[in-house]
Amino acid sequence: MTQVSSVTVSPSFTSRFVVHLLRYGRALCGQPGTPNTWPDDHRWVDDVHWVDVSCLPCLAHKLEDATKATIRNIQEISRSLGVS
Ligand SMILES: [Zn+2]
Repeated sequence: MTQVSSVTVSPSFTSRFVVHLLRYGRALCGQPGTPNTWPDDHRWVDDVHWVDVSCLPCLAHKLEDATKATIRNIQEISRSLGVS
């Protein structure tokens, strides 16, 4: 096992393949085409398994989404507490 940041991933999967994050049939990074038209060393995971993503642009999109969702949650909590 390889330690990447604070996440433990399987090197047999992530070091041999470019692993994209797939949403609605498309890679978040904009990799052209669909998985069945990608090069042989490209794979994908869904949001549930995003810790296995090795494509950095896909990861950047995922983290941007997560950050925006967190900010929305904080704003909702602030509003419900009347502190916004
Ligand atoms: Zn990607």
